[in-house]
Amino acid sequence: MANLSSLNQKWALDLLMDCLKINGITGKESAIAKHVASTLIKLGIPKNLIKHDSAHKEIPLPTECGNLIVTLPGTSSGPRLLFSTHLDTVPLCAGAIPLLKGKKITASGKTALGGDNRTGVACLMYLAAKLIRENIPHPPITLLFTVREESGLFGARYVKPQDLGNPAMGFNVDGRGPEGITIGAVGAERFEVEIFGRASHAGVYPEKGISSIMVASIAL
Ligand SMILES: [Zn+2]
Repeated sequence: MANLSSLNQKWALDLLMDCLKINGITGKESAIAKHVASTLIKLGIPKNLIKHDSAHKEIPLPTECGNLIVTLPGTSSGPRLLFSTHLDTVPLCAGAIPLLKGKKITASGKTALGGDNRTGVACLMYLAAKLIRENIPHPPITLLFTVREESGLFGARYVKPQDLGNPAMGFNVDGRGPEGITIGAVGAERFEVEIFGRASHAGVYPEKGISSIMVASIAL
């Protein structure tokens, strides 16, 4: 368990390793959500500022818990800021055991690691720790930890904006390097298409056939 008294690189690393050790593939986020909430309470965030919404009751796929929302009052004036991240990892990460080798963290077995997005989770907890432990003046801040991101952004789709305290702007931590900020994207929609070709004798009537593979490649 990360020692909560001193903030440094080692502490941040421990925070991340603790998050990586917890299983929480998409839809099964209750253990990691509990870990986040208890760590934040140990940091000094009052329990009543940490809430779960009921998104899991509306998400059309089985989901253990709702989004975790932390609303911190400001210690200086300014519009509320939102920092968000997702709690879940892809199913390939089930049973992952993180291993620190030199400067690299890898999964010890055949699973994926779950850096996406336990890195984001640790990052937001570090942010909270930094603000609280070092008494850094800050405007009101909302931390949002969403569920079921990997299977279709469900936590974010079902979050109620009024639960977020009306933030003026938001930063989602779910990328590669800390130096890059994406300010616009086309978004994502998932759909399935079935293409049926028409069978025909390849030697005698090839011109009467329709290749579904060709249609798919043209469509793509
Ligand atoms: Zn992600």
